[in-house]
Amino acid sequence: MYKIFIIGTLVSVLISCQEKIKEEANQIIEETKEAVIVHEEYMKPEPTEPEATEYYEPKVPVVGPATEGKIPSDAIVLFDGSSLDGWMHTQDSTAAKWHLNKDGSMTVADRTGNIRTKQEFGDVQLHIEWRSPLPVQRDGQNRGNSGVFLNGIYEIQVLDNNDNDTYVNGQVGAIYKQGPPLAMASVPTGEWNIYDIIYHAPEFNTDGGKTKSATVTVLHNGVLIQDHTEIKGTTPYIGWPKNPVHGKGPLMLQDHGDDSRVSYRNIWVREL
Ligand code: MG
Repeated sequence: MYKIFIIGTLVSVLISCQEKIKEEANQIIEETKEAVIVHEEYMKPEPTEPEATEYYEPKVPVVGPATEGKIPSDAIVLFDGSSLDGWMHTQDSTAAKWHLNKDGSMTVADRTGNIRTKQEFGDVQLHIEWRSPLPVQRDGQNRGNSGVFLNGIYEIQVLDNNDNDTYVNGQVGAIYKQGPPLAMASVPTGEWNIYDIIYHAPEFNTDGGKTKSATVTVLHNGVLIQDHTEIKGTTPYIGWPKNPVHGKGPLMLQDHGDDSRVSYRNIWVREL
């Protein structure tokens, strides 16, 4: 009698374990089903030949690579150190008065104002190099402050943040006052930093409403610091981001107005 009781108990434990496993398996299957994104082209009967999933047109454009100091063969050079002809002051459209240096760079001329490209762009891949000035002067937002403004209105912060704390959404590599960078990857002050930026402009409907936010990906000295981050609007010092309707716009560089003598060199874009 006792043996029968033990066997009975074991059997019921086994059954309940089996049911629990089954239940969990079903739950996993259900979750997996929900996670699968259905691609319409894959709803057709599954091919049985390898050639059925290969195509040859349209051809992919050939672009000379940016290796060994070269730039991509389809890049538009915005500044190569030879002149400031492609640039003007944002405020009054006069010729750019920033310093053109013998080493192929340019430097903010004190309190002359922001400069912008004459050319305008939408979606771009942008390469730009910048250097914080030596000797180090002042603190916080007043140490080597400049900025790269995409579409002329969305600032990616340039700042000498080395041993220089400030608000994180205004530190080097931040989408100013919106999104801190994922990492702080600056080289020592006085050395050249590199930003490689992928920018997609926002889209608007005919009523002036924004239908798609701009996004930005930034590599700072090869380190990912903005990962397809949404740009919520303009990047003002005071107030919320705004969303004015716009099309193409210039690339703008900031004179922060406090004698922050930031330098720039090797600026090019590829239109996307
Ligand atoms: Mg700035």
